[in-house]
Amino acid sequence: MNTKKTSPEFDVAIIGSGFAGLCMAIKLKEQGRDNFVILERAQDVGGTWRDNHYPGAACDVPSHLYSFSFAPNPDWSRKYPTQPELYAYLRKIAADYDLLRHIRFDNTLEAAQYDEEHHVWAVRTSQGSLTTRALVMGNGGLAEPKLPEIPGVAQFKGKTFHSSRWDHDYDLSGKRVAVIGTGASAIQLVPEVAKVAGQLDVYQRTPNWIIPRPDRGYSGLEKVLFRRIPASRRLHRNAIYWSHEARVMGLVLHPALMKVFQKVAERHIRKQVRDPALRDQVTPDYTIGCKRILISNDWYPALQKPHVSLVTDGIREIRAHSIVAADGREREIDAIIYSTGFYATENPIAAVVTGRDGKTLADIWQDGEEAYLGTLVNGFPNLFLIVGPNTGLGHSSMVFMIETQASYILRLLGEMEAQVSRTLEVRESVQQGYNARLQARLGNSIWSTGCDSWYKHKSGKITALWPGFTFQFWLRARRFDASDYLFDGVSGDGYVAADEPGRATV
Ligand code: NAP
Repeated sequence: MNTKKTSPEFDVAIIGSGFAGLCMAIKLKEQGRDNFVILERAQDVGGTWRDNHYPGAACDVPSHLYSFSFAPNPDWSRKYPTQPELYAYLRKIAADYDLLRHIRFDNTLEAAQYDEEHHVWAVRTSQGSLTTRALVMGNGGLAEPKLPEIPGVAQFKGKTFHSSRWDHDYDLSGKRVAVIGTGASAIQLVPEVAKVAGQLDVYQRTPNWIIPRPDRGYSGLEKVLFRRIPASRRLHRNAIYWSHEARVMGLVLHPALMKVFQKVAERHIRKQVRDPALRDQVTPDYTIGCKRILISNDWYPALQKPHVSLVTDGIREIRAHSIVAADGREREIDAIIYSTGFYATENPIAAVVTGRDGKTLADIWQDGEEAYLGTLVNGFPNLFLIVGPNTGLGHSSMVFMIETQASYILRLLGEMEAQVSRTLEVRESVQQGYNARLQARLGNSIWSTGCDSWYKHKSGKITALWPGFTFQFWLRARRFDASDYLFDGVSGDGYVAADEPGRATV
């Protein structure tokens, strides 16, 4: 890419306008930093809550916690927000904070390359090119749908779509439908599809532990209270926050504690599933928490409807109008809904972000994604990730992590200015030490106890999750030590460490 100009057009370019991108933009504006652009591949804001509009789509983190702390909404209709409500919330945020004029819609990131000579990022999208001093990746951890590699998948002649690319124009009424996958998305959409489909075959590879969904609507009185007495809303949010934080005790600190939690899920199966054979089929063989814990009241009842079948034999082949299970049984179908998850690791976007020495994020992440505080990557000056490696949660709200990271990035931008530096980069040794400690902690967590999940890179390394309390992440991101970073290639304490020879440019 040609980047002749030495001063970039923008101070900051943000990729994506979901929770992460909008949060970063709001924080920049709060500090009067207006010279930024948001590059959004779609035609609207909203990220995951714009894309995942399948029937039944909702969040399994309570609304009062799954929202910005600085933009509370006293009017959440229920404990667990539905997709339309979350989408509307994000659209309102974009309008209220005057962000729309910063957004270039229909701009898919095609390449971002660090220009070492001019200390800028050269960004090319589907609509053109620009340069920016800092690049913030708010592209989302679960944004790229993953389709299964099943023999014959391309031969299928009926309708197909991924759960996050729902085609509402296709009427499922009376159709013979197959849903592949039984994860968080499937357990929400299957009960809805079961209401209209003529036949529904659900293909389960691995069962998930599911606990009851303690959902309820907020009463008018509660909403008035939350609006008139903000302290009551804050109290409510804090109560939700700390009850979720408590789960870290089992997930990370003492995995044996999860057995107690598992009893709740086992009781849920006993209560909702009568057939002993089906009970066996839906009961996982790993400890609860190893994969994401799901919440649903209508998943097991849906599976027991007369026109619904749970197929657990595995898929041998997909043919033009059918799926053949591993036991040889062929089931004719009209449509396949792939509820097969996302590229949480090996996100294709990593292949288009090129740092120093011509290496892409995908190149350096071949053995698994790594960053410092999920935000900085050595070799990629002025690149900031939100929801980067090891920031995902198995227990609480990603919005908390996003806010923390956006504040951290803002702090770093300020430090760059204070140091009169054109670049900021985390030191290699700091990133390595951080990740060694992180992986040691993850090794003792529930997520390492013998199950496969999207939390893991194919190497087996857990690259998606933060192994601790979210307030620990917050505290860590607030603690700033200049010597952890290179400013214009020189360590923040003025000392060039032996592990970064020859980096100094000034
Ligand atoms: P997922 O949890 O990764 O589930 C994918 C499902 O597809 C799994 O059951 C998986 O089986 C199955 N699968 C994948 N490849 C397959 C193949 N080749 N053959 C057969 N089955 C296959 O994906 P998701 O349900 O879309 O959810 C992803 C994440 O999004 C969630 O964990 C959650 O973090 C987020 N989400 C959140 C909410 C919410 O309420 N907040 C709602 C939806 C999604 P295996 O288990 O055997 O791999």
